[in-house]
Amino acid sequence: MRGFSAAVLVAALFVGGCAGPDESATSRVSDEPLVPVADVHPGIRFDIRYATADNFTGERLYASDACLLRASVADRLARVQDRLAAEGLGLLVFDGYRPLSVQRKMWELVPDPRYVAPPDRGSRHNRGAAVDVTLVDAAGRRLEMPTDHDDFTEAAHRDYAGATPTATANRDKLRAAMEAEGFEGIGTEWWHFDAVNWREYDVVGK
Ligand SMILES: [Zn+2]
Repeated sequence: MRGFSAAVLVAALFVGGCAGPDESATSRVSDEPLVPVADVHPGIRFDIRYATADNFTGERLYASDACLLRASVADRLARVQDRLAAEGLGLLVFDGYRPLSVQRKMWELVPDPRYVAPPDRGSRHNRGAAVDVTLVDAAGRRLEMPTDHDDFTEAAHRDYAGATPTATANRDKLRAAMEAEGFEGIGTEWWHFDAVNWREYDVVGK
């Protein structure tokens, strides 16, 4: 656990679109498989916190630390990695596809739709169409950002104006790189990005 109370972490982790309810009840079926992101680009780094006890529950929630995404979404992320590598940077991934069983566990802990997507609707992570990422340098060291991944204070907002110039520049660089390859961010979490066509993917699994 980091230096936050469990309640703050719980509230922080699930605000907004990262796990927010999806309004789309008319999503089209896509047959794209979930693929390991590590297979589409060897340079992408990972810190899958739900596969360790280092998350707000203090429990390991994922059976595997393999990060999965829909195939074309993973391909987009590979292109972002190439784009960043050209300037000596890269991606570090915190979360991708999230099984519904994990969504249910989160809902048990925090049954509040303001913070957790109800499992009967699912989140965009449950569709394999959302990813949580940050920037690293060529040695894999995380670049300064306005907050950590598990922070949901106002400082995590995409347009927060109170961060240092370096953190602000890094946050905006990440956003620009992701948007250039077909992702869109959300207002409340600088690290969360949805594939722009996320509505085309149904929730995967049970
Ligand atoms: Zn997210």
